[in-house]
Formats: sequence, structure tokens, C-alpha cells
Amino acid sequence: MNEKVAQLINEQINHEFYSAYLYLDFANYYAAAGLDGFENWYRVQAQEEQAHAMLFYQYLHNNGEKVTLKAIRQPDKVLDSPMAPLKAGLEHEKLVTGLIDGIYALAFEARDFRTMQVLDWFVKEQGEEEKNAADLITRMELFGGDAKGLYMLNSELKSRVYTAPSLTL
Ligand code: MG
Repeated sequence: MNEKVAQLINEQINHEFYSAYLYLDFANYYAAAGLDGFENWYRVQAQEEQAHAMLFYQYLHNNGEKVTLKAIRQPDKVLDSPMAPLKAGLEHEKLVTGLIDGIYALAFEARDFRTMQVLDWFVKEQGEEEKNAADLITRMELFGGDAKGLYMLNSELKSRVYTAPSLTL
């Protein structure tokens, strides 16, 4: 595999684990605030991110590349209202989209078609992640303004269950 492509995928493992850690921090915030549905939604999201990390981990191993696990930095978003994690989440997903696009561009340049094919799934996934994050903000703006609306929204988010990523390597 192209050395720089492999290096970026290795870094992406860390970014995905950071995402998991960040979303666990969001869950942690909502748990303390008594919003167990929001907590559940982000716990599931954290599981998804961990699965993303493991897909990149497996992909490097499948191709005989060395994996180096680095320190995961501390989540640093300011969470001062039930809306704050939602906005921070969308901002973060846009950043991750940029990272995935960056690896894709490099793989394209290196004519690494195998990696591009794997990344196709992630490109689509990022579109969904950004939409989900934006939808949460919209619904919070529409319904989160009063106690009854927030209660309903929280109840709804409680039903999210984890499903493994559809990508197989
Ligand atoms: Mg991810």
C-alpha cells in the first residue's frame, strides 16, 4: 500500500476512537442532565465510531500494514446546554468528512483503487452522519423549547439501538 495512504488510515483509526470518546462525553453530559434518551443516542453513536475505527484497523491488517495505536486526546467541547452537544456533533462530523475526503484524494492520486472502494462506504456514511446530526439540531430547535417537547424527543431517542456497520472487508 502507498505509505502515505497507510499512514493517513492509521491516523484515522485514532480520529474514529476520538469520535467515540467525544460522543461518550456527550452521553456523559446528558446522563448527568437526566436526559437518558439523548444519553442513549450518543452511547450508540460512540459504539458506531468504535466500529469505524476497527474497520480501518482491520483493513490495514488485511493488507499487511502495521498499525500504531496512539493516545486519544481528551474531549474538549464546551457542553453547557442540551443543544451544545448537538451543535458540536455536527461540527465534528463535518471535520471527519474532510478527513475521509483527504484520504480519498490521496488514494485517488496513488491509484489505490482498493482503498477508494473501502472509502466509498465511508463517504456515504459521512453524508448520513452529517444529516443525522443536522436533523437532531432541527428537531431540538422545533420541539426542545418546552418541557413537554423535550420529554417527547428524549423518549424517542431512547429507542435507538446499535447495529453493526454494513461494510464488510
Ligand atoms: Mg466515524
